[in-house]
Amino acid sequence: MTIKGNAFAIPGFDIRRMVRTTPDALADAGVILPQTLHYVRFALALVRPVGVFAATFGAVVMLGYIFDLEVLYRPIIGGPATNPLTALSIVMLGLGLSFCSIRSKTRVQLVFALVAMVLTAARLVDGHVYVTGLSALLTPFQSAVEAQLAAGKSNAMGLNSAWTLFLVSLSLLFRSLNRPAISQAFAFAALSLPMMAITGYAYGLDNFYGQMSMMTASLGVFLSVSSLAMTAHRGVLRALLSPYIGGRIARLQIILGYVVPFLLGFLLVRTLVHSGGVDMFGLFVVMISWFIIILVAYSAVVQERVDHQRRIAERTLITEALQDPLTKLPNRRQFLQSADRELQRCMRKEIGDDLWVLMIDVDHFKSINDTAGHATGDRVLAQVGTVLADTVRRMDLVARVGGEEFAVMLLCSSSYGVIRVAEDIRRNIEGMSVEGWTDVQGKPVTVSIGCASATDRSDLKSLFAAADEALYRAKESGRNRVSFGPAHVTGLMS
Ligand code: GH3
Ligand code: MG
Ligand code: MG
Repeated sequence: MTIKGNAFAIPGFDIRRMVRTTPDALADAGVILPQTLHYVRFALALVRPVGVFAATFGAVVMLGYIFDLEVLYRPIIGGPATNPLTALSIVMLGLGLSFCSIRSKTRVQLVFALVAMVLTAARLVDGHVYVTGLSALLTPFQSAVEAQLAAGKSNAMGLNSAWTLFLVSLSLLFRSLNRPAISQAFAFAALSLPMMAITGYAYGLDNFYGQMSMMTASLGVFLSVSSLAMTAHRGVLRALLSPYIGGRIARLQIILGYVVPFLLGFLLVRTLVHSGGVDMFGLFVVMISWFIIILVAYSAVVQERVDHQRRIAERTLITEALQDPLTKLPNRRQFLQSADRELQRCMRKEIGDDLWVLMIDVDHFKSINDTAGHATGDRVLAQVGTVLADTVRRMDLVARVGGEEFAVMLLCSSSYGVIRVAEDIRRNIEGMSVEGWTDVQGKPVTVSIGCASATDRSDLKSLFAAADEALYRAKESGRNRVSFGPAHVTGLMS
């Protein structure tokens, strides 16, 4: 397969499939974990239907103006009407959201976002800063709007609605520019306005929701939620939708963090407005504080429990990675790490002469396995390990470095000390009684030992090579014996 220089050059993976940003393709590319798919898929699936719904809603309102059917833009007689500029902005945003999941169409999305942004920005400038008349100019069917106004029927585009749609258009814009974090921030901001309006409705406070009709508020919620969902696989939302403990706690906190203050606020409004009980205000503040404390404490307890399990698992993994399960001795990896550290230390102190490596290999171990079985072989290895650990001092390193190969690093021993220890090892193993072998076969277990000292050798590799060479010579010269590596001690014993 030829890989055409891209960042996701995974064999068998088609980059063109990924750019369509389907959750499966993203998971394939390792962009999101498969477990997160459940919520992310749900969120992404939400975007297009809401987009189509919003665009249809806006189009129906526009049809009302085109065919002069008031019921289409003012469903309740005498109730609030949807302004044509609002309807047009909603159509733009709805279409922009409908093009969400096809990445190659982001330019189309960008155009819709820009148009919606200009329309809503004009209304905001006219409403907040200076009446330029631009929004009136951009409003289709302005004459119908003016005629209605003259008849005493309000159908102006509310500023809260304009803000919501403006923020959604910014969210869409940044999404199309591939800036998911900024897009999410604007979508969250957009959501807060209709939420405020809906809270006002729920509390029965007229001046709370300002100019936003219930219809626009609900549509605002839908639009902001789906513009949030557009980037569900990225940024903050990805963390919130995570199936792991962080995401689970965050979701619980968000739901309770909204519902509980909402209910307390409801009670507060009832108390203040209906009974004038201002003295209750402090009580509500304390209740909110305690709610936050309990929520945070709960998540701390859960996180600690999970983290505790993780720490235990981590420790077990580290032990398993560094320990030989049969003999419970350090394995080759840990031996190399520790030996390297000791070697560096000895070199620094220039006491290299006093550091020795012993390579120990069980003689004819294969025949033990073949004659007495694998289980007996294992028992031999376990006992060899125990004898080794018992023979050397606590400060020395002992490890099982291969099948029936062991290594010992003796720290700060003299040549004569090493000869004694190596001989002790050899003799102690020879004297071992192993159930299923020595008692059945009447033959001892023996080992050959190759020793090398750290003299003039600063690296572990050459030290091990020397010990291996000595071991080879011990095998060659008949097994069950100790042999020495470098020339300066050869002849002491071989
Ligand atoms: P030599 O004296 O030359 O060292 O001969 P040997 O038979 O000891 O050496 P060889 O390398 O031929 O055989 C080593 C055997 O050790 C082969 C392998 O099946 C066995 N072995 C390796 N790991 C284990 C283990 O964990 N348990 C058991 N029972 N056998 C093992
Ligand atoms: Mg071997
Ligand atoms: Mg062997």
